[in-house]
Amino acid sequence: MNKLILYIFLVILFNCNETPARSEIAIINVNIIPMDSERILESQTLIIEHGIITKIGSSATVKIPKNAQIINGKNRYLIPGLMDMHVHIEESDLPLFLANGITTVRNLNGDKTHLKLRRKVDQGEIAGPRIYTSGPLICGKNTKWKIKAVPKSQKEVKEIVKTQKKLGYDFIKVYDGLTSDIYQALMEEAKEQNIKVVGHIPKSVGLKGVLNAGQASIEHIEKIVKDYFGIQYNLQNIMKVAKMIKSSGTFVCPTLALQENFYLNSQGKFLKKLKNPEMNYVDSEIMSWWKSITIENNGDVSKSKSTSNEDLGFYNFQLKLTKSLFDMKIPLIAGTDTPNLGMVPGFSIHEELRNMVAAGLSPYHALETATRNAAAFLGIENETGIIKEGMIADLVLLKKNPLINISNTKSQVGIIVRGKWYSKNKIQASINKIFKESLSKAD
Ligand SMILES: [Zn+2]
Repeated sequence: MNKLILYIFLVILFNCNETPARSEIAIINVNIIPMDSERILESQTLIIEHGIITKIGSSATVKIPKNAQIINGKNRYLIPGLMDMHVHIEESDLPLFLANGITTVRNLNGDKTHLKLRRKVDQGEIAGPRIYTSGPLICGKNTKWKIKAVPKSQKEVKEIVKTQKKLGYDFIKVYDGLTSDIYQALMEEAKEQNIKVVGHIPKSVGLKGVLNAGQASIEHIEKIVKDYFGIQYNLQNIMKVAKMIKSSGTFVCPTLALQENFYLNSQGKFLKKLKNPEMNYVDSEIMSWWKSITIENNGDVSKSKSTSNEDLGFYNFQLKLTKSLFDMKIPLIAGTDTPNLGMVPGFSIHEELRNMVAAGLSPYHALETATRNAAAFLGIENETGIIKEGMIADLVLLKKNPLINISNTKSQVGIIVRGKWYSKNKIQASINKIFKESLSKAD
């Protein structure tokens, strides 16, 4: 994508509404799914003033401010903005998140460009979801990713943690290949600096080790299976693991949809996914990478993240473990790991929610993983994640009820980010324009 065109697009999207931006919005006659419990408040009017929800009540009684922008919510459903809790983003992804109802992302391998992006969104210079970001992932020697920090000693890792905190990153991301000594030093310093640690389970530390050390989240349920169960998918041990995680207070971000893609690929059934309409928005370099690991293209599957156990048993066991963690009331958070195999920014959150339901969660509980649980992880549960008076207006308006069918999260009419309304049509038209322009420029 041409960087300048993209930048102009993001600025235009931010500053251009169908009607002039007003500081007051009234969504009238809408069905609200507040996500504080499984219920629907029917025929409500919700008032937003200066980005905050100031009034919710029956449409017959709530007074609409004189100059408010009015959005008709009749027969529609209002949910809290969605949060993708595991992404790897670029600036060009931002409109795709908005187009899919995502108002917050957690970026898990960040550098200075992400800090800059976060600042531009925060200051209202460009349109995009709220960004939380870790610093460069901290890992051992043999890690393929470009952004990384490779500490050689305990002293060095402490310096890295200190610096990342000072630069303003929101979390420390731990990755594979760390020695146990370096991991423990990292955790010590993170405690000292009061910064959360998220990420993988380094082999030298193991599941028990990361739980005891107080890691705030474990990414990929696949890692728990590989570390604790190996290839013995022993159902009897599931409860043991669930109890262990429960007592630690750690959040788990399963990234199931990615595992579904690995499974489909292992069966030679992945290629047709690359014909889905959202694939038009995938960067050509990333598409080439995906194609290079597609088995049907004689791709080298060893280049994909997982190299073994990619069969139905492995995928199904991850679903079962996810459900058991949910039953044990371990907080699950929805993350996609975009742009890993087949995970298109924004669109993939709906795939992850579908997988949560496939694991056995109800649509309501699946939605929790991308709203109130995510807000709780980020420590912003008093600001967003549920709909009530006093909360920030991060909202999504849907045509259909997502509690009946989770795929209804795709039926978007529009999104409100920090109190600003963007209709789906408007975002879509802008995206079409920018992608068409960048495509024709590439010809
Ligand atoms: Zn990742």
